[in-house]
Amino acid sequence: MTSLGSPGKSVILLSGGLDSAVNLAFCAERDEPVLALTMNYGQKAFEREKEAAQRLAHYYDVPHQVIVLDWFKNLGESALQKKESAIPHFKINELDEKSRTESSAKMVWVPNRNGAFINIAASFAEALRANRVVVGFNKEEAETFPDNSQSFLEAANQALSYSTANQVEVFSYTTQMNKREIVKALAELSRPFPLSWVWSCYEGGKESCGECESCRRSERAQAVEEL
Ligand SMILES: [Zn+2]
Repeated sequence: MTSLGSPGKSVILLSGGLDSAVNLAFCAERDEPVLALTMNYGQKAFEREKEAAQRLAHYYDVPHQVIVLDWFKNLGESALQKKESAIPHFKINELDEKSRTESSAKMVWVPNRNGAFINIAASFAEALRANRVVVGFNKEEAETFPDNSQSFLEAANQALSYSTANQVEVFSYTTQMNKREIVKALAELSRPFPLSWVWSCYEGGKESCGECESCRRSERAQAVEEL
């Protein structure tokens, strides 16, 4: 568990995936979550993410809002957004192969996505007199996604100390954990965590594809936990 800092009122970036959902759960027990935000950036999985996020926000009794950022889909070639670009498939034993994860990361990269999301959430936080933006970062994906790392979080905090009047802080309960540790941490929660509601898949089908990097990472995290 990462240092908790000083809890308070929080705005949560809630994609409906495992990491953000677990952060919502921790936040609901320790802070005062005042708003959960789900971004529509033209991603294939938006409808599924929105459903998961709405359900989770309702369960934890947190107001939920969708922010439409559909101009994002015109900015690049990300496989998360473009119909004609296939999302890379993985086998579990490929998840730690740096060349595979780096090439996949390039294909699903969306220009400055987390940077933009954090700043938008910080605007809401300042307006709502909240002192925190809570995000679902993890150590495992930080290895290939620099915008998931502790260093980015610290840099974002420094920038926000200038750009918000109340020095909003970005915080993640899971930034020092890998996915397996995140699943394990669910046992610390006093309320049962609705793991089956989470949508982690990069695709937007009726069921999770089971083969994208995000599906495989969730699968591995839960499989290890069952051993
Ligand atoms: Zn998937």
